[in-house]
Amino acid sequence: MSRREWENCRFAVLYVDLDFFKSVNDLHGHDCGDRVLQQAALSIQRVLRRGDVVARLSGDEFAAIIELQSDDDLARVCQRMTQSFQAPVVVDHREFFISASVGVAVYPEHGKTASSLLQNADRAMYTAKLAGRACYRVYSAVDTEQGRYEQRLSEALIASLKTTPEEFSVVYQPQYRLETGKIAGLEVLIRWNHPEFGAVSPGDFVPIAEQRGHIHELTEHLVRCILADLPEAPGSLPEGLCLAINISARQITDNRLDSLLDPLFDRIRSLGWRSEIEITETHLMNLSTRCLNRLRRLGEKGVIIAIDDFGKGYSSLAYLHTLPVQVLKIDRQFIRRLGGKSPDSRIVSAILGIAEALDLEVVAEGIENSGQYTKLRELKCHRGQGFFLARPRPWLALNGAFIDASQ
Ligand code: C2E
Ligand code: MG
Ligand code: MG
Repeated sequence: MSRREWENCRFAVLYVDLDFFKSVNDLHGHDCGDRVLQQAALSIQRVLRRGDVVARLSGDEFAAIIELQSDDDLARVCQRMTQSFQAPVVVDHREFFISASVGVAVYPEHGKTASSLLQNADRAMYTAKLAGRACYRVYSAVDTEQGRYEQRLSEALIASLKTTPEEFSVVYQPQYRLETGKIAGLEVLIRWNHPEFGAVSPGDFVPIAEQRGHIHELTEHLVRCILADLPEAPGSLPEGLCLAINISARQITDNRLDSLLDPLFDRIRSLGWRSEIEITETHLMNLSTRCLNRLRRLGEKGVIIAIDDFGKGYSSLAYLHTLPVQVLKIDRQFIRRLGGKSPDSRIVSAILGIAEALDLEVVAEGIENSGQYTKLRELKCHRGQGFFLARPRPWLALNGAFIDASQ
């Protein structure tokens, strides 16, 4: 800072935090994690220029001081920083798909002391994480409000998980066979209704539960709610449906998972239905052999494994082929492009082609209008789900969805 005072030029502090790095350690051990960190450090170094400084602060957190010639310059460096993680990091002939979230504080606007600059760059990094990771954010005081909100939400979630189970509930969204229009299954989606925060989206609280190590408790509530809803015998329910639940990749190696899910699988079986587990694509690509073996064992029990949000991550086709999965769920963003003003079905067709070659079933999620529905039927996509067909509903409100099916 004292040097810059004399030279009268600006500089920025970049706070770089690797995304999903913990899962590398959890799944592959610390030796491997260390080497991934070394490679990541090289990726960061390659972005910097002469005179810039980079340091590792702790764990998977790095910080850099960069000289700024102009405002464009800042955007350019930050973009290069996030892009330098687009290619996988290779360690022991294995590819690791990590990304980096970057927070930026500029001197002197965003801080006049070393600690305030670092703190504000850290806060901006947190905003980048909230924005979906793999991106950069420049510090702004407004974001800090968001950060504080997030912190309060996180504390409320942990308290609710432990003390007020009644705040959690589940809804079921029907999926249909696109060829026949008959109901094919239900996806269970968790809900959290907090007295102060109201209905919080699982898109917001599931990542908090994952990060704070409480995802097991959340799944306990999920299972408890489903078991309270499902009857013990089929009665008049339609036959042969799939009941799909969402599971975080991190949970797969959790030793408590089998005993948690087995009663649910048993109940689903007693209805003559099948269980399906959805795992998000981004996480699936980083699974260790141990995880994959556990997935295989679930498969042997008759559980269907589905890749959720397919197309959002970076699946390697060679790898996809070796995974124990039977179903691909195409991410909503591609379905959205099907029915708009300039409809584009190329990606969906390509995914259907890949799925056919690999003998996988395809589910389209987020069908919102008849244009998208018709196009997906034309493309011979197997299953469909979306607000146009049916919204997620509590168990007791599902009757309509079931009746449609038998007509
Ligand atoms: P997902 O598994 O991809 O679930 C589909 C999400 O899309 C749901 O949002 C659903 O309500 C929404 N959706 C369905 N049809 C449409 C549509 O036509 N248009 C639009 N715009 N959206 C549609 P929801 O319930 O907010 O869930 C968000 C995400 O939270 C889920 O994405 C899933 O990744 C996660 N999640 C939900 N429940 C659980 C759970 O029990 N455990 C875990 N680990 N994750 C969960
Ligand atoms: Mg899902
Ligand atoms: Mg999805």
